[in-house]
Amino acid sequence: MNCIFCKIVSGEIPAKLVKSGDDYVAFRDLSPQAPTHILVIPKQHHSSLADVRDPSLLGSLFFAAGEIARDEGLDKGYRLVVNSGPDGGQTVFHLHIHLLGGRSMDWPPG
Ligand code: AMP
Repeated sequence: MNCIFCKIVSGEIPAKLVKSGDDYVAFRDLSPQAPTHILVIPKQHHSSLADVRDPSLLGSLFFAAGEIARDEGLDKGYRLVVNSGPDGGQTVFHLHIHLLGGRSMDWPPG
């Protein structure tokens, strides 16, 4: 499968790794949109949120995002974003949570 994030999980493509667990890997986004911009992804391939059938996987990913936010010192807050499908703005079709922090966020999103 020609999935760039699967290749990051396997080590075939380098990434700035932040943390990993049994079922997830977190690494810095190549094109950061905030001072802290980290992607939390499952090790197993799921094209998008719409493909996930295991609620505990989502719990694991979101829990990891919260832990990483603490580790990164984002005490003033942060934003988690999951773009799902083309209309959701997803461009890499391997499920990921964006963890954005280090600046105040606007609302509504574009
Ligand atoms: P999305 O538009 O929600 O699918 O987000 C995909 C994200 O992946 C974007 O923020 C990209 O900058 C990021 N990205 C793409 N390729 C890489 C890579 N090789 N390493 C780190 N981040 C990447």
